[in-house]
Amino acid sequence: MGKRKALIAGNWKMYTTVVDGCRLALDVANACSDFDDREVLIAPPFTILSEVAHVLADSKIIVASQNVCWAEKGAFTGEISPVMVKAAGGSAAIVGHSERRQIFGETDELINNRLKGSLAFGLLTILCIGETLSEREGGQTLTVLEDQLRKGLASLTATDMANVVVAYEPVWAIGTGKTASKEQAQEAHAFIREIIGEIFEKSIAEQTRILYGGSVKPSNIDELMAQIDIDGALVGGAALDAESFGRIINYK
Ligand code: PEP
Repeated sequence: MGKRKALIAGNWKMYTTVVDGCRLALDVANACSDFDDREVLIAPPFTILSEVAHVLADSKIIVASQNVCWAEKGAFTGEISPVMVKAAGGSAAIVGHSERRQIFGETDELINNRLKGSLAFGLLTILCIGETLSEREGGQTLTVLEDQLRKGLASLTATDMANVVVAYEPVWAIGTGKTASKEQAQEAHAFIREIIGEIFEKSIAEQTRILYGGSVKPSNIDELMAQIDIDGALVGGAALDAESFGRIINYK
């Protein structure tokens, strides 16, 4: 099988308000050619989802929320529903980002609920997983990845997987300037693909896109994308700069 269609995703985290966010979105759109082999996604803060989606309406860029609730509506203060994401012009969501897990205490079970809800309403959903530095140093990387993956994907069907993207984001590499080497990333991605094959079947694993995230920059994107099991990138810091993100999108 040939390589899967790549996905380059920019997570703006808690940065940008309406004017700078719309400017950045326009600049990113201008950096995109009419690609056949890759897609681009932007996850702005909730407060400007709708404005960014409006600015990008004539582009192929996918607009995503940085997190999403499982329910359509209800008493969930501080949450955003998949229906709200869609009404604002979004068509995708991120769940399980390490900042949600580490700072806000989100568990695998909660993240699994978010993922299921997001899929039920038709959103392309990026499930983030990744080990901490102490877990890596303790030789637990693969065990942690398998555990997060099995719990994160629990009770999903093979059909659901068509709308799931997995992002491998080693926590020690996020926002630290430390990138996993291409060999470390490839090893983790191949392992993730193997486990997806065990949970579902090999053909599903072959179709599933697995992104790498953790200090992706213009200087390392080409070698990461050259790895057989790396199908794209989830980019934080460098996604806030149109020139850097533009270079990442245009990886060779
Ligand atoms: C992220 O936010 O998912 C991320 C990988 O951040 P950074 O690129 O800044 O490490």
